[in-house]
Amino acid sequence: MSNHDAQDVDEADGGCIVVTGASRGIGRRVAVRLAQEGYDIAACARTVGEEATKAVAEIESYGVRCLFQAVDVSDTAAVEAFVEEAEQLAPLAGLVSSAGIVADRPLALMPPEDWHRVIDTNLTGTYNVNRPVAYRLIKRGGGAIVNVSSIAGVYGNVGQTNYAASKAGIIGLSKSLAKEVASYGIRVNVVAPGFVETDMTAGLTEKQRAAAAQRVPLKRFGTTDDVAEVVAFLLSDRASYMTGQVIQVDGGMTL
Ligand code: NAP
Repeated sequence: MSNHDAQDVDEADGGCIVVTGASRGIGRRVAVRLAQEGYDIAACARTVGEEATKAVAEIESYGVRCLFQAVDVSDTAAVEAFVEEAEQLAPLAGLVSSAGIVADRPLALMPPEDWHRVIDTNLTGTYNVNRPVAYRLIKRGGGAIVNVSSIAGVYGNVGQTNYAASKAGIIGLSKSLAKEVASYGIRVNVVAPGFVETDMTAGLTEKQRAAAAQRVPLKRFGTTDDVAEVVAFLLSDRASYMTGQVIQVDGGMTL
């Protein structure tokens, strides 16, 4: 889905931010928040349907341009082509890699397909989009990247060995990339959310939800706004002396 003609657009003031997993949840809220700041948005999700259409309308309501494509982030070639098209929208200014899935089960019972599906989407997907964006930001001489991990990637979690491994991998990737590209004026940071109200946590029973909230000193789940605000800050010049950091947005859950 694209509502722009790449030949006709002028360079946007803020440039273009690539956002993966932007049809729902955290990615969508981040995309809208960045649109509000004046960035053009190149967004993707695995499927482009009603949710993506709503996301595009929200993003465009801020007067910026939006490209929304169906891209599976685990598909290296498809992501490369998507980033190439994103660059036609406006010069790339940054990236938010938020696409992610869970497939929870105790390790002893986890089938290989659940292991690979989660690693391929969450970790390889992060590599797939960081590589072409970082390459272009290096050529441009600046920019910022935020990769979405999880507190499970920092502390581990029962039933989430695949997910925690993928999210810990994102932290290692991001810290290493931060060191590689700092001299080009590019910053790379990570947000590690706790429980956030999205489709990902919608499957919890009321009992599980209450027990989870009880573990949070602020006594509630986070909102997508809570996370988007931190992502927007990390992408902005207001965070110009921060790189390689993992910022936990978890209501104090891990204190
Ligand atoms: P969500 O509401 O389930 O949304 C996930 C988004 O990612 C959707 O837009 C989905 O698109 C997209 N996506 C999934 N697989 C994809 C793929 N292979 N290629 C491209 N897009 C794909 O999830 P969320 O809660 O916002 O989570 C966003 C990120 O935050 C994830 O990385 C997640 O691990 C992390 N996180 C979430 C929480 C939480 O409590 N919600 C906590 C910690 C970390 P489709 O609908 O087309 O599949």
